[in-house]
Amino acid sequence: MLEIFQIPVLNDNYIYLITDAKSGKTACVDPALHDPVIEKLEELDKKLDFILNTHHHNDHVGANLQLQKRYKCEIVGNEKDKARIPGISIFVNEGDTFKLGDSECRVIEVSGHTLGHICYYFSKESLIFCGDTLFSLGCGRLFEGTPDVMVESLLKIRSLPNNTKVYCAHEYTLNNANFALSLEPKNNKLKKKIEQIKTRRSKGLSTIPSTLGEEKILNPFLRFDNDAFIKSVGLKKKSNVENFKVIREMKDNF
Ligand code: ZN
Ligand code: FE
Repeated sequence: MLEIFQIPVLNDNYIYLITDAKSGKTACVDPALHDPVIEKLEELDKKLDFILNTHHHNDHVGANLQLQKRYKCEIVGNEKDKARIPGISIFVNEGDTFKLGDSECRVIEVSGHTLGHICYYFSKESLIFCGDTLFSLGCGRLFEGTPDVMVESLLKIRSLPNNTKVYCAHEYTLNNANFALSLEPKNNKLKKKIEQIKTRRSKGLSTIPSTLGEEKILNPFLRFDNDAFIKSVGLKKKSNVENFKVIREMKDNF
């Protein structure tokens, strides 16, 4: 069993601390800053065994070296990104498994936002840490990858079970939801979801995790092959990649 603690930092980043209940082994996913992580570890009376990085951007690896210096923790990242992830000491590749005590995750490579971006998927616990690839009702910008690579990556995530909890790295949900609604102003499920999001945000609460089942129904970036959706957005029925590309460009200009 995994215990998960969400630490909101900067404007809209989430750092996660995860603890394997049986062994007490603890990892930090994408530490942007060190102070809030240290504070939470002390509150929990834990030390840090691992850092799991999804990709090389500074708001995900910014505290790697300070935390490694303090806790002598190992740092896990994509072997392909070894030149860009500070302090990396455990190199993983697509399909590798990584054990945090008794809890095991699988590495899924999801290039697109960056080349070599990875997710950590805990199948038994039904949860995924997906960094900046899939957001609730959105997806990451394409900084290094092409639309075809990103579509392949999103399809990998979409193939996971509906009950998978989606732990992404940013609270972008309300803005994403407003974009989704601009594409489908009559979507009642979306309207209802937006009310829920607004209520939570007005109380200062997080909208993360979402579930993959809900994302499959409402996230525009997982619906590039849904005929009814494509039609209502006013797109001609083209390829998945072309549809995705247009939706992504619309969001970039939203
Ligand atoms: Zn990023
Ligand atoms: Fe980020």
